Amino acid sequence: MIEHPAQHLFDESGTGPDTSASTRAPSVARSMLTTAKANLFDFDRKGLRELFAQLGEKPYRADQVMKWIYHRHITDFAAMTDVGKALRDKLSEAVEIVPPNTLFEQQAVDGTHKWLLGMDGRNAIEAVFIPETSRGTLCVSSQIGCGLACTFCSTGTQGFNRNLSAAEIIGQVWVAAKHLGNVPHHQRKLTNVVMMGMGEPLLNFDNVVTAMNVMRDDLGLGLANKRVTLSTAGLVPMIDKLGEVADVSLAVSLHAPNDELRSELVPLNKKYPIAELLEACARYAARRPRTTITFEYTMLNGVNDKPEHARQLIKLMRRLPAKVNLIPFNAFHGTRYTRSDEGVIRAFQKILLDADVLTMVRRTRGDDIDAACGQLKGQVMDRTRRQAEFLRKLERDVAHAA
Ligand code: SAH
Repeated sequence: MIEHPAQHLFDESGTGPDTSASTRAPSVARSMLTTAKANLFDFDRKGLRELFAQLGEKPYRADQVMKWIYHRHITDFAAMTDVGKALRDKLSEAVEIVPPNTLFEQQAVDGTHKWLLGMDGRNAIEAVFIPETSRGTLCVSSQIGCGLACTFCSTGTQGFNRNLSAAEIIGQVWVAAKHLGNVPHHQRKLTNVVMMGMGEPLLNFDNVVTAMNVMRDDLGLGLANKRVTLSTAGLVPMIDKLGEVADVSLAVSLHAPNDELRSELVPLNKKYPIAELLEACARYAARRPRTTITFEYTMLNGVNDKPEHARQLIKLMRRLPAKVNLIPFNAFHGTRYTRSDEGVIRAFQKILLDADVLTMVRRTRGDDIDAACGQLKGQVMDRTRRQAEFLRKLERDVAHAA
C-alpha cells in the first residue's frame, strides 16, 4: 500500500484530529433538536424550514440562514447580521454549521485542485476541482470507499466503510466554493458538479438527493439541473427512483459492450445486465425531453478497446439519446490493467463518430497529484467483510435468479 501524504494525520486510536460533528449520520442529526446539535449542512431548503418550524421560526428565516451559508460561506451565527440577535442566540444553542475538515490539499500543474477531507477520526475522502476555460467542475464523493469492487477502479480495491451524510457530501462543495471565492449568480467559478468521486451515489440515495437539492437550489449553489451529474455503475431500480425525485443529468459507467466482459469489469452487471440497464436509461431519458445520457467507458489496453467492441457499442447506443465519454485508464498501485494507446483510443472514437454516436475523449487532468478519474483513494478503514459480503450476495442472487 502506498503511504498517503496525510497518513500521519490519523492516529491509531481512531480519535484523530478531526472531531467535527460530521461523524454523525444524518438520521441521527435530524432527531437531534432535543439531544445534540443538528448540523445545518444536513438539510436542504425543505428540511431546513422544517427544522426551523420545530424551533418556532418562520420559513423565511431558514432561507436567510441558507443564503449566509452557501452564498457568503458564513458558518458563525454571530456574523449573520440580518438575523435578529435573539434568533442568532437561539440557533447557536440548538444547532451548528460544521463543514468537513480539510486535512490536506494540493494543486496540480494544470490547476486541478484536490482536497483530502477528514470525515471522522479514521476516514477521509477526496474531492477534486477541475478548472476549464468555460466551466469549473467539482468531482464529489458519496461514500467512504465503495462496495461494488469494479476491477479497474482504485476506490473499488479499497473496500467500503460507510455512506457519507448529506452534510459530508454538500460540505465538499462548500469547501471548494469557499476556497474558490465562488458566489452563486455573480462570480460563479464552480459551474458543474459530478457525483463521480469515491462511492456509488445510488447506494446512498437519500443523502445524495438532499445534497443535490442544495446544489441546484438558488439559495444553495444555484446550479442548473443539467449541470449536476450523478454517475452510477448501474443500479437499475434506483435509476428509476432517481428519475422520480431529482431532475439531474445521468451518467452510466458502462465500460464494456457485452455482458460477459462487463460482468468481469463491473461485478454489479451480473445482477443488472446491459439490456436491463439500457432500458432503465431509456425510461430516465423519456421523462426529460432534451436530456442526453452519458456513458462512461474506461479504455483498458487489450481488454475493451478493440474495433469489434466499438461496433458492439454502436448497436447499444442506437436507441438512446446517448453520448459516449472515453476515459483513458489511469493506473494505480497494484492494478493489472494498462491504458490503451492514444492511437487506439482515437481509432475507437472514430468508429463511433462515423456511426453518428457522439463521442468524446476525456482529457486526463490532475494525474500528477493522483486526482484523475479512478485514482481517488482518501483514507478508508476497510470493513472488508462488507465488500466480500456484497460479492457473495451478488453471486447468490444471480444463482437464485437463474
Ligand atoms: N460508482 C459510480 C461513481 C464513481 S466512479 C460509477 O461507477 O459511476 C466514476 C468514474 O470513474 C467511472 O465511470 C469510471 O469511468 C472512472 N474510473 C474509475 N476507475 C478509473 C481508472 N482507473 N481510470 C480511469 N477512470 C476510472
